[in-house]
Amino acid sequence: AGPEQPAAGGSRAAHVVIDSVGKTFRRAGRRTVAISGLSLQVAPGELVCLLGPSGCGKSTLLRIVAGALAADQGSVTVGGRPVTGPAPDRGMLFQSPMLFPWLTTRKNVLFGPKAQRAAGADQRDDPELDAEADAILATVGLAQFSDAFPHELSGGMQHRAAFARAMVTRPSVLLMDEPFGALDAITRVRMHEFLLTMWEQYRITIIFVTHDIEEAVLIGDRVAVMGGRPPGIKEIIDVPLGRPRHALDVDTEEFLAVKRRIRASLLA
Ligand code: ADP
Ligand code: MG
Repeated sequence: AGPEQPAAGGSRAAHVVIDSVGKTFRRAGRRTVAISGLSLQVAPGELVCLLGPSGCGKSTLLRIVAGALAADQGSVTVGGRPVTGPAPDRGMLFQSPMLFPWLTTRKNVLFGPKAQRAAGADQRDDPELDAEADAILATVGLAQFSDAFPHELSGGMQHRAAFARAMVTRPSVLLMDEPFGALDAITRVRMHEFLLTMWEQYRITIIFVTHDIEEAVLIGDRVAVMGGRPPGIKEIIDVPLGRPRHALDVDTEEFLAVKRRIRASLLA
């Protein structure tokens, strides 16, 4: 881990510290311990995958880090600051790109920053912001589609637009909840390549939730295997593979060895 960098004002990667976090849901007289005593540190610029079966608390943990859900126990800090609610320094991406269908790609990207401006009573047009949106759209390969509407974009392009929208506020951490789970296999491979290229470029911290072992090994620096009773982190496994990694590497001995190790941990 490098020295901790301030998250304020830039897209510099933040250190994420999750300390003894627990969350129990109560509904209709039933208690569900979603996660318990969960601790994890993610270094600035690191890409950590949370891997586990459905219902093991992955989304709950991510929502707590995002500030969308309050933990019952423990604490989370991002860039040294306690998480108390949602903030622009933490971007979130989901399986559905969730673009507004009535807005162009460009206006979708600009929606968050413009809403922030409006809340700050600063109603002026901001050419700098517009330039920033155009720069990000060019970076994600959508310069030609900035005036297109979401239904005119392919599934992969919609995800790239959602990525651009998440990055325009210059977050220091990106939280991704099974983002490519609904895509076809080929588009998924392309999105992995895209994500890793963007990660290299922006040098951002990423926490990536998946239930797919191969995906976790393909993109992660480390894989936190979740599960158990009460649910928490069973084991954190280093992915000792070089970068860049390619979809064609998944059948190599080294890759299979990591997969086997993670599968054993999941089933233990
Ligand atoms: P995952 O993302 O790993 O599939 P979740 O974090 O969504 O798991 O859910 C963990 C557990 O908490 C599950 O048993 C789920 O049913 C329960 N849970 C999640 N959200 C709620 C909620 N809002 N109310 C009640 N139970 C919930
Ligand atoms: Mg989930």
